[in-house]
Amino acid sequence: MLIGAHVSTAGGLVEAHARGVEIGADAIQVFNQSPRMWKPTRWRDDDIAAFRELMADGPIASVVIHAVYLVNCASKDPEIRAKSLASLKHSLAMGDAIGADGVVLHPGSTVGEPHEEALARVGDALGEALAETDSCPLLLEDTAGAGKTLGRSFDELARLIELGGGHERLGLCLDSCHLLASGYDVRTADAVATVMDECVSVVGRERLRCLHVNDSQTPLGSNRDRHAPLGEGEIGARGCGAFLSEPRFEGLPAIFEGPGLEGKAPAAADIERARKLRANGLRARARRRRG
Ligand SMILES: [Zn+2]
Ligand SMILES: [Zn+2]
Repeated sequence: MLIGAHVSTAGGLVEAHARGVEIGADAIQVFNQSPRMWKPTRWRDDDIAAFRELMADGPIASVVIHAVYLVNCASKDPEIRAKSLASLKHSLAMGDAIGADGVVLHPGSTVGEPHEEALARVGDALGEALAETDSCPLLLEDTAGAGKTLGRSFDELARLIELGGGHERLGLCLDSCHLLASGYDVRTADAVATVMDECVSVVGRERLRCLHVNDSQTPLGSNRDRHAPLGEGEIGARGCGAFLSEPRFEGLPAIFEGPGLEGKAPAAADIERARKLRANGLRARARRRRG
C-alpha cells in the first residue's frame, strides 16, 4: 500500500512533490487548479517536466489529481454542464501531462431532478470526457450521501460506470469516511471485508484504483462529509487499522486528505499515524489467523 496525502501545489508541481517527500508520503494527491474556481490554470511545461523527472526517481510512487469541486456532470443546466465537461477534460489532460494514476471525480448531484435522467447525464459526460482525452484513468469517488449527491452506493457507482460505456479507464476511489457516512461499516476487519466483498461483486476489484483514508467526525449512516484525523473519529484507531490492512487494498495509493493531527494540512505525523495504524491492523490479522 502506498501511504500518502493530499498536498498543496502552491508554487507548482515541484513544490508539491517536495511537500510529499518532506512528510514521508509514498503517494500524493493534488488539485490541478483551485478546486472552487472554474477558471482553468495550467502548470508550466518546465514544471511538468521537472516533476516527471522527480517522480521517475522516487520516493513518491503515485500521483492522483482531484477534480474541481464545482464540476457537476449530472446537471441539466447547459452552462454548468459545459463548464463541468471542460473542467473534467482539462483535469484529465493535466493527468496525462503529469503521468497521474487517475483523476478523482465526485459523480455529481441530481439537484432534485429525476434520478435516472441525472445518472444518464453523468454517463454521457464520462463517455465524452474519456473520448476526448488520452489515457488517464477517471476514478469515481464514493460520496457520503449528503443531499442529492450521486455515488453513495456500489450499485450506483456500478451503474455510472456502465452508463459511461464501461470504459477500462473508469475506476473507483473509495473514501473510508464517505463509506461510513453513507452506511457502510468499516470499523472492524470483518466489516471491511464484507464491504469489499460487495464492492468486488458489484463493481469489480479491477476498478478499484485509489483509496482516500480519512476518519469521520460523524457516525455510521450520518450522510455527512466531515473528515477527522486518523484514529480520532468514528472509525477510530482499530477501524482505520482494519481499513489500511485490508488485503484487497494492497498496492493502492491510500491518500489522507486531512484535517491532520497538527492542523489542517496533512503532515508527517499523519503519515506516521497511518503507517502505525496499518501495522497494528496487520498484526491483529496475523493474531487472528494464529487463533
Ligand atoms: Zn473528493
Ligand atoms: Zn470527504
